[in-house]
Amino acid sequence: MDDIKNKAAQFDILDHSPIGQFVLRNDFVVIFWNKCMETWTGISKDQIVGTDLITHFPHLGSDKYTESIRKAFHSTLPIIFSSQFNQHFIPSPLPGGKFRIQNTFITRIPAQEEGEFYAFFAIQDETNVTSALESNKRALSQLKEEIEVRKQVEEQLVQLARYDNVTGLANRTLFREILLRALAKTRRNKKTFALMFLDLDHFKDINDTMGHNVGDLLLKSVARRLESRVRDNDLVARMGGDEFAIFLDDCSPDDAAHIAVNILDILSPFHWLDGKEVFITSSIGIAMCPEAGDDPESICKSADTAMYHAKEMGRNNYQFFSPELHAQTMQRIHLESDIRRALDLKEFSLFYQPQVDMNRKVVGMEALIRWQHNKLGMVNPGQFIPIAEKTGIIDPISEWVLHTACLKVREWQENLYLADDATIAVNISLRQLKQESFWDMLQKILSVTGLDPRNLEIELTESSIMDDPKTTIVLLEKIHGLGISISVDDFGTGYSSLNYLKRLPIDAIKIDMSFVQGIGKDNNDEEIIKAIITLANSLGLKTVAEGVETNEQFSFLKEHKCGLMQGYYFGRPLPSEDATQFLKDILSPDRVEVSPCSITN
Ligand code: C2E
Ligand code: CA
Ligand code: CA
Repeated sequence: MDDIKNKAAQFDILDHSPIGQFVLRNDFVVIFWNKCMETWTGISKDQIVGTDLITHFPHLGSDKYTESIRKAFHSTLPIIFSSQFNQHFIPSPLPGGKFRIQNTFITRIPAQEEGEFYAFFAIQDETNVTSALESNKRALSQLKEEIEVRKQVEEQLVQLARYDNVTGLANRTLFREILLRALAKTRRNKKTFALMFLDLDHFKDINDTMGHNVGDLLLKSVARRLESRVRDNDLVARMGGDEFAIFLDDCSPDDAAHIAVNILDILSPFHWLDGKEVFITSSIGIAMCPEAGDDPESICKSADTAMYHAKEMGRNNYQFFSPELHAQTMQRIHLESDIRRALDLKEFSLFYQPQVDMNRKVVGMEALIRWQHNKLGMVNPGQFIPIAEKTGIIDPISEWVLHTACLKVREWQENLYLADDATIAVNISLRQLKQESFWDMLQKILSVTGLDPRNLEIELTESSIMDDPKTTIVLLEKIHGLGISISVDDFGTGYSSLNYLKRLPIDAIKIDMSFVQGIGKDNNDEEIIKAIITLANSLGLKTVAEGVETNEQFSFLKEHKCGLMQGYYFGRPLPSEDATQFLKDILSPDRVEVSPCSITN
């Protein structure tokens, strides 16, 4: 009923008309009844709207009359009834018991919903047909205009609600409808279809550096290229941000893989936008349906999982969704929510590993995080740091690490367990460094803990620095400006541009342990270590060898003048109290250097 009332509202302008007007739907239900009709018939709008016209005027139920009305619903021409010539009129009594002599004009008007028609009745109580026609025409044209405008507005609204206004592609809503239809079809005829999720790699950087205008142009250009690579029955949609989805009708895994390769190819050439050359790659996840889910939400999730996997596999590639991938994702999701609570539950702790010079004198400590999970036991940072980085939980974790490590080293200095110039090295992920708030946080921690910035060293991995060296240089300079040292972790595992390396405000290079562990076994590793030391010397940088486990490795590194070392040979990462004890022990009069410790402990 509310629905009919809403429909009736569009005809309200006819309330003021001097002629009787009402609107009938093709099932003969009255949709609208104007004030004039109320006066003439004594039946109010509330009584009649939403009911069958014939129940109020049974004499109109004859075949002849209903047939004529039906004709009007389907005809483009108006139909005229004159009560002078037939009895099929809406009775409108006049004082004195007589009835009006009427002419009724029935005109079809558009209805909004599919399968619905309206007949617009205009009843004139004049015998002069011409004047009746005139006034009817006026009312009709006014009504038609209203309806036209409404129709246009509604079409625009439908367009807005189902299409993306940047690219003109289908949006999430329309895409969901298409998926629902495809699923119903698949159930009927057992045909398969594929859903592709595509995310542009590092789109945010383009938006940030080249502006949103170029970002929008890029989205449009990508949309056109995607459309050019799909088949007629397929549909490309923009799901939001830089995420696109492609529905591939009647598609085998081979077809999907073929299309994915095609898409990666077509997206990679430069886009010329606003006079600028823009380069972008994408990561694609493919879900084969119906295996990947039986409702739009789960299918989209599967495609998204596969896409996430493609990102992990180094971007600019495609991956299929599989049940194993699902299991891994579930595990990651669980871990993700556990990491969130771990800080509150105080499940994190810091271990400290000594860094020594060539004389095995402790010159600093590296703080390494540990997670004591209530069910899984000790979870190593390699498992949870990457997840924490992706989800952003790394931010509060890093703050906690920095704060705890700085406090600890202050404590050691105050107790004279550690020299004044000794450093505490903290691992920081690049994501953290890029946060506006990092800078404030760093300064706050230094001031709260009272640590001299010279005692703090920040370790960033080579691959993260070289991922975006231009931006990183600026950030590192800011940190360096405070007096904090910077070292490049896992050196040798990424691809350093020597050009950038010499411009980076860094103090030390940490030779990755994979090379150190090749000492005495692999001549190439030894050559690489020698080359890294030479390179560092020529750039005026210190070298730290990581993962030193044996005397042979130590001797080799000492012989080749690697200034600093770290590894089980000198000391394992130790919990805070043990680390304190370790420092106290070396200070005892009979111990002047770190002695080799057992590798098995
Ligand atoms: P990393 O910074 O390269 O740390 C060195 C890793 O080598 C540590 O593993 C350490 O326990 C291990 N290690 C040290 N000496 C030896 C040795 O002689 N032999 C062998 N086989 N291993 C040795 P851990 O503690 O599991 O840390 C793994 C990685 O997790 C670290 O690599 C670092 O990248 C990351 N990480 C650790 N703590 C933090 C943190 O607080 N924040 C961030 N963002 N990352 C952290
Ligand atoms: Ca490190
Ligand atoms: Ca390392």
